[in-house]
Amino acid sequence: MKAFLLEQANNLVLKTIEIPRCKAGEVLVKVAACGICRTDMKSYRLGHRDLHLPRILGHEIAGTVVEIGAGVTEVHCGERVQVSPGLPCGVCPNCLTGLNHLCPNIEIMGFHYDGGFAEYVLIPSKGVKAKVLNKLPDHFPIELAALTEPLACCINIQESMDIGSGDTIIIFGAGPVGILNAKLAKLRGAKNIAIFDVNKKRLHQAAGFAFCHLFNPLEQDPVKVVRELTDGTGAEAVIPCCPDIAAFRQGLSILRKRGKFGFFSGLVGEHAVSVGELNNFHYKEIRLFGAYGCSSEHNKKALLLLSSGMLEVDNLITKIIPLEDIKEGLRMVEKLAELKIVVKC
Ligand SMILES: [Zn+2]
Ligand SMILES: [Zn+2]
Repeated sequence: MKAFLLEQANNLVLKTIEIPRCKAGEVLVKVAACGICRTDMKSYRLGHRDLHLPRILGHEIAGTVVEIGAGVTEVHCGERVQVSPGLPCGVCPNCLTGLNHLCPNIEIMGFHYDGGFAEYVLIPSKGVKAKVLNKLPDHFPIELAALTEPLACCINIQESMDIGSGDTIIIFGAGPVGILNAKLAKLRGAKNIAIFDVNKKRLHQAAGFAFCHLFNPLEQDPVKVVRELTDGTGAEAVIPCCPDIAAFRQGLSILRKRGKFGFFSGLVGEHAVSVGELNNFHYKEIRLFGAYGCSSEHNKKALLLLSSGMLEVDNLITKIIPLEDIKEGLRMVEKLAELKIVVKC
């Protein structure tokens, strides 16, 4: 099969390798669609804390089951599935309470195991047992299934923050997860939603969605904008969906007292955050919510929202590319040239 193997940072090589065969408990999926995430681009360029090389990247996977190992009852050959990428142990306290992305022994497809930038992907037995394969309804377009995992990450942070009716929510970053977070907040009943982005092209693309306010913080002072949106009280919730320290700082300054800060996107680079900035948490009693990845339960909820049409995302995928073009796809992600890019086999 054709597979793109990341041998070391910046060295992604197209290889022809053996199609994996299923041992007991394993499932072989023929990849039909795999989203390219900013994390894939970062892993490609810089490596990643959880990435073990050499590795086939890609964790937003959907495809068709083509072989099952002995003892597998969870899925059958011919079924179309979405892969929840986290492979939990299934027996620890976090796994048993439905938060299996916080499993201390979690391993992730595309990081610890080979992922979806290949023609086939082997699902380890621990994943099959933990029910990471979610069956797709017949009518559901396979490329949309690749949006399940990013939406599941948004569900993780917004459930944690209890985003709901009446909230004024400010999102930094008008990329795919910024827009998904905004759409989800609207679905959950948020009253006022605004996205800030310094990139004019991103703002222009997001304008097509026309359900929230859009601002460029280089042109309009976020503090002033949010004050006007909220009659002077400040935002109830902020979710930075970009790795910029400026968004972190502005987020703290626009929150109202007892506002909720969603640490959704990890920061990159080395930055000194001042005591004065951190004291916002103290004086304003800001509540901090972290989120990293998503559980298999979050994936199931995300798939239901997508496949039922409750959360519409068709126009979020602006580019579909063949597997051979993966490097160009990663470059496009790096240049913010498109919204969501999906590899379709
Ligand atoms: Zn991702
Ligand atoms: Zn566990």
